[in-house]
This record gives sequence, C-alpha cells and structure tokens, in this order.
Amino acid sequence: MATGWNFHELYLWHDTGRAALFYPPGLTIEPGEHAENADTKRRFKNLMEVSGLTEQLVSLKSTAVSDEDLARFHSKDYIARIKADSSACGGEASPLTPFGHGSYEIACLAAGGTYAVMDAVLSGAVANGYALVRPPGHHAEAAQGMGFCLFGNIPVAILKARGVHEFDRVATVDWDVHHGNGTESAFYEDPGVLTISLHQEGLYPPNRGHAADRGKGKGEGYNINIPLPAGSGHGAYLAAFERVVLPALYKYKPDMIVVPSGFDGSAADPLGRMMLYSETYRHMTRMLKAAAADLCGGRLMMSHEGGYSAAYVPYCGLAVMEELADIKTAVDDPFLEEYAGYPGQELRPWQADAIAAAASLLGGIK
Ligand code: ZN
Repeated sequence: MATGWNFHELYLWHDTGRAALFYPPGLTIEPGEHAENADTKRRFKNLMEVSGLTEQLVSLKSTAVSDEDLARFHSKDYIARIKADSSACGGEASPLTPFGHGSYEIACLAAGGTYAVMDAVLSGAVANGYALVRPPGHHAEAAQGMGFCLFGNIPVAILKARGVHEFDRVATVDWDVHHGNGTESAFYEDPGVLTISLHQEGLYPPNRGHAADRGKGKGEGYNINIPLPAGSGHGAYLAAFERVVLPALYKYKPDMIVVPSGFDGSAADPLGRMMLYSETYRHMTRMLKAAAADLCGGRLMMSHEGGYSAAYVPYCGLAVMEELADIKTAVDDPFLEEYAGYPGQELRPWQADAIAAAASLLGGIK
C-alpha cells in the first residue's frame, strides 16, 4: 500500500516578514530573511519532485479545518483574534511569531493537510504519510500561538479524528529540536494520547520540556520528555529511541503513531545545536515504522514542524520519505560524509545519563 503526501502552494505564501533570524528589524538590527520562511519547505518539495518520489506517492488534498475544529483545542477568543488580524494586515500570535494577511486561512489549510493525511492513514487509504505543511504547529498553545506556530496542527487533527474514527490511543513522537510544548499541553491530562518529545535541553520554550513534567491527573505518566544536552548526535538519538521511545511505545500500544517532524536537530541548523544527519532521520523512521507494523497495523503519519537550513532540510526529509515509502531514489545526500564524520556522533556518557533519567520514568505508562 502506498504512502500519502500532502502539500499546498499556499503553505509557502504564509508571510513571516523581515527579521534577523527571528528578531524584528530596527535601527541596530538589519532586516533579513525570517528563519521560518518558505525556502526550506519549498526546497524539500522540490527535491522530492526532482528525485521522482512525489509521483510515486498518493497526493492527499488539503481541506481547511473550520473554526469548530480549531475550537476543540484553541480558545474562541484566540481564534477570533488571529482571524481578525489576518483579514487586516497581519499581526503577531505572540511576540516573535508574526504572520501576514491571509495567514489564518493558510494555517487552517495546514491543519487540514495534517488531518487529511491522518484520516487517510486511519481509514486505510494509505499505509502511512507525510504532511509538508506550513505554518508549523507544535508550539501553539490553546490561547496563544508561539514559536512561529499559529494553530496546533496535530492536536487539532487528532481531536477532529476522534469524532470520525474508532481509536483509543495515539502516541506522538516529536523529534523537532525544540520541545513540543503545544502537543504536550493539549493532552497533558489525557491518557488517550502519549506525548513524547526529544529536544535540546533548555532551548525553547524557556523552562519547558523537563523530564519531571510527566502529565497530570488521568494523564499522569503519559507525557515523556527527553531533554538531551546540546551537541548530541546520531548515537544519542538512536540510543534515546532504543532505550526510551520504543519501550514506551511497546508498553502503551497505540492505535497510531504521529510524528511532529522538525529537521532543526540537523548539524546544519542555524537555531539548534545538535548534529543529526539524513541517515539519523532514516533510522528513526525505520524504527517507528517497525514499531507501527508491530503495534498498530503500520499506522504512522508525520506533520512538518521546524528545520531552518534551506540547504540541508531537503535531504533529511527525503530520507524520511524514502523510508516511509520503501523506495530508494537515486539522490545522494551530498553533506552526509561531512556531517556523519563529525567527532562526537557516537553516544557520550553525559548523554547516556540524560537518556537513563528519562527511561527511569517509563513506569507511569499502563
Ligand atoms: Zn523546532
């Protein structure tokens, strides 16, 4: 069975304006490209086409989610504010999360694209799939967007899917270099969604993503944070998968695995300080695909989040897509030898300690 793929040109038209990485320009900050601009995603989509992989996938159409769909996660006041600012000249979902005219509609389309892939996976129309959406979603909280995210694409899609499909348990595995605070907060008291986030310790948001944050009430034990020290590479991430992520998934036995997929853990990223490369993402995908085959009929879907190296994200993304589709294209990663050869790619003791601390908290999953 085929792999699903969602993309829409409008995702690239979401306008984050001018910035120095993410700081607004001023008399001492020269205007440049905002870190979260369309280039990374456009080039990922372009490499997919050049590789010949796109035409071997099932194209899944985006349908914008409604305000009612958004309101399963977001507050009505917040939705109304984004909608009003978007219909004028744009605004800020919170400081440092700017958006332009029309971004409300584009964000609804992005959540809809995530839902389209999830729906196709749950209904069995495709084996697995990827939504290459923008704006991203995993930092958006109920009453405020943040971290370049307007609406929680994945929480909105999961909550919508609950009303359409029969399933009890979803596991999210967020490999974006930043903490998946929005997904965490959406399901913090909900044992029906196991949220797992691997991220660079203390990066963003401030004071979030601690291993001690494990969920609350009925959801206690069903949130797992794996904060990894800056400088972690291939060995640390694979060890975190083998020692925490996979044991958690096999204990939880989800009906579907969902990945908030950011590529800002790569060695080339301007915002993150990790050292991953395309083969790391390929390996992590392979492990999740095998777990999904064992646990939930292969149901695995991903929705695009961060990743700010326009040159490198496409090769990491292509590796994931090749693995999902089980098709190896003729494209080689030109950066692979250099990044894989960096000293420190193997697991280091202080990284193993951080992983062991997260592994010690697996007992909360029933
Ligand atoms: Zn990120």
